[in-house]
Amino acid sequence: MDEDVKIPDTLTGLVVDRFSPLYDEARMDYNTGLPPFFPKYIVFCFDVHDVQNAVRWSQAHGLPIRARSGRHSYEGYSLVDGGVVIDVSRLNQVELTHGSGKAVIGAGADLQPIYQKLWDDGRLTIPGGSCPTVGIAGLTLGGGFGSISRLFGLTCDVLESLEMVDVNGDVIRASESENENLFWASCGGGGGNFGIVTSFTFKTFPIDKVTVFTLTWRWPDLRAVMKAFQVWADPQFLDRRVVPILKLTSEQAGQVAVVGEFVGPLEDMFFLLQPLIQAAQCAPAVRGPTAVYFFAGLKPPHAENGQLALLLLPHPFSGQAHEKFKNTSAYQFNLFPDATIDTMYGRITGR
Ligand SMILES: Cc1cc2nc3c(=O)[nH]c(=O)nc-3n(C[C@H](O)[C@H](O)[C@H](O)COP(=O)(O)OP(=O)(O)OC[C@H]3O[C@@H](n4cnc5c(N)ncnc54)[C@H](O)[C@@H]3O)c2cc1C
Repeated sequence: MDEDVKIPDTLTGLVVDRFSPLYDEARMDYNTGLPPFFPKYIVFCFDVHDVQNAVRWSQAHGLPIRARSGRHSYEGYSLVDGGVVIDVSRLNQVELTHGSGKAVIGAGADLQPIYQKLWDDGRLTIPGGSCPTVGIAGLTLGGGFGSISRLFGLTCDVLESLEMVDVNGDVIRASESENENLFWASCGGGGGNFGIVTSFTFKTFPIDKVTVFTLTWRWPDLRAVMKAFQVWADPQFLDRRVVPILKLTSEQAGQVAVVGEFVGPLEDMFFLLQPLIQAAQCAPAVRGPTAVYFFAGLKPPHAENGQLALLLLPHPFSGQAHEKFKNTSAYQFNLFPDATIDTMYGRITGR
């Protein structure tokens, strides 16, 4: 048989090549707006040995390697043309060490099942991202910010140790007392750079009352809302229990919204939100339960203008469709003057 057609015996796990009916699904990341990638093999690993075998085989044959967990890389960094994608998504176990409050999480676990398991087993959580389908590996190794990060830190801040397969196919561990430099570098700079992580150990936090809120205003109030929001949301002064997001959408959307998450009692949240609620004709009304206990993605509920709604989490994750998108980030270090807000308003409206 043509050597190129036969999958090598030394590659273990579920190995998908271009002749497989699974190939097109297996070679896609979440962002379908990326140019297509055509890996030689996509290896779905079921245990650490599968990862070791894939690394050793790729090294022996001089093929480039990409690690993949939740497939949510913005730019397709978990894909490669002609190389080997080592997919750890089947290494997705979540285990809580009772007593120590530590969670050992497989590098292929997605965020929503992690939050669910930690809540179910111990009313615990970690500060992860807000998107339920992001993978723990890419998130943690790149830092990881989410809706309780102002209170508990980045995801990598609560990382205690990790286990990875290195370039030789050996299993190594890193923590503050073992391979310290590797551990330091993995907390923000680790995505695909130093080895293939197979599991993480995290410190966890008890969690109780959590509320997700949405405030909406009529679209013409955008300038007033922006002015009030940027003063209110100044991180120097804003209560660390809240993480808010101002959503500026087009005029056609018809409304301006602030969504956010708050850790604490409902009364405190109302008190905290007052400056925003009073910014422009925002008449709050409560819907749903008074507290929620669990994190997942933020999704604004249906709310009429000037109303505040509460969401019960977790909302069921129904398997999101893949999307086309381009994302970027910028940081604001000073308040926008009124003239800048007027300019932004003009640009969004086209007037
Ligand atoms: C819809 C969406 C919502 C998001 N929301 C948030 C958010 O709320 N907060 C936030 O902080 N970020 C968020 N992100 C960004 C996200 O955290 C990063 O894109 C992250 O890298 C995705 O990780 P992944 O494992 O899902 O992706 P993948 O595409 O699988 O991997 C991303 C990177 O990590 C590397 N990698 C994957 N697995 C391993 C491994 N086992 N060992 C070593 N390297 C590995 C890959 O090689 C690649 O470089 C979001 C992204 C999307 C698309």
